[in-house]
Amino acid sequence: MSRFFSEKYSVLEAYTPGEQPRDMQYVKLNTNESPFPPSPNARKLAANAAESLQLYCDPTCAKLTEKFAEVYGIGTDEVIFTNGSDDALNFAFMAFCDDAHPAVFADITYGFYSVFAALNRIPYIEIPLKEDFTVRADDYIGVNKTIFIANPNAPTGVALPLCEIERILKSNPDNVVIVDEAYVDFGAQSAVSLIHDYDNLLVTQTFSKSRSLAGGRLGMAIANKRLIQDLNTIKYSTNPYNVNSMTQAAGVGTLMDEEYTQKNCKTIIENRAYLTAQLEKLGFVHTDSMTNFVFAKHPSFDGGRLYEALKERGVLVRHFSKERIRDYNRITVGTKEQIDILLKNIREILEDNT
Ligand code: PMP
Repeated sequence: MSRFFSEKYSVLEAYTPGEQPRDMQYVKLNTNESPFPPSPNARKLAANAAESLQLYCDPTCAKLTEKFAEVYGIGTDEVIFTNGSDDALNFAFMAFCDDAHPAVFADITYGFYSVFAALNRIPYIEIPLKEDFTVRADDYIGVNKTIFIANPNAPTGVALPLCEIERILKSNPDNVVIVDEAYVDFGAQSAVSLIHDYDNLLVTQTFSKSRSLAGGRLGMAIANKRLIQDLNTIKYSTNPYNVNSMTQAAGVGTLMDEEYTQKNCKTIIENRAYLTAQLEKLGFVHTDSMTNFVFAKHPSFDGGRLYEALKERGVLVRHFSKERIRDYNRITVGTKEQIDILLKNIREILEDNT
């Protein structure tokens, strides 16, 4: 830290993104990326957009907004596009939280929530998940705070049924409930259908996972137009050009290829079933994942040791040192070939240690 760094950030603990080591070619199952390339139209339109990079991008993302509204059946004023959904989540912390509206989220959830809260100097409360890592919806009934719920949750993969989300929305009419649906396309129920029924509902989604655009950084928030206006006020006060032209074009291309996305999601769901079945045969226990990752632990093999041993063998998974979950690893569901390499290595590691 330099002697010039503002006092207000001196205790800030920055988010640690998943590692991207360059020392060898890894089988990368640690950051929940798609193993499939962006759709053909996404690649084509992004390349065309590169021809005009001398111009600023469209701050309103007009073409992308129109295409998205058509595909999702919502109004063009009911969505805002952002630089990944992280950007939308940060905007939501800025727009809807303060000393009078502290944030509340689970103790085991997406690690960026507490970082955004600290960055914006917002008080927050963590609500423990149940022993089995499910959310107890009753804990959020009438809490009278701005609620952030990742649904499905990360890194646990567990989803909350839509009726429970609705109960939380109903019981907190004077607070915004942000439902982070980064992984919703892999089997959970989306709350987007409820945006006209609840003026306090804001849903965030991303093109990073099911739509293979993690490196393009494209996310969005979907809600009634007044909440979207609030986020636009924040966006136009920070960086109106937060989604570059190539990414806007790639987003349009992706939405032209919805069958491609659906086919890829179906493959990931099938591969998830294969991975969990094979892990069970090796003695692992896991949560019921509705995402593109599996959260698993072996009863007699330390989670941190397994992560290290896999890394030495060129396979990256994600391990968290937080007390409650340090026995587990979060494993991205890759292609069948990647899964087989992972399983072969796990088998050998377990054999070497018996
Ligand atoms: N929410 C959750 C629960 C996530 O796991 C992630 C991915 N790290 C994000 C939001 C943000 O993803 P992105 O910024 O790539 O849209």
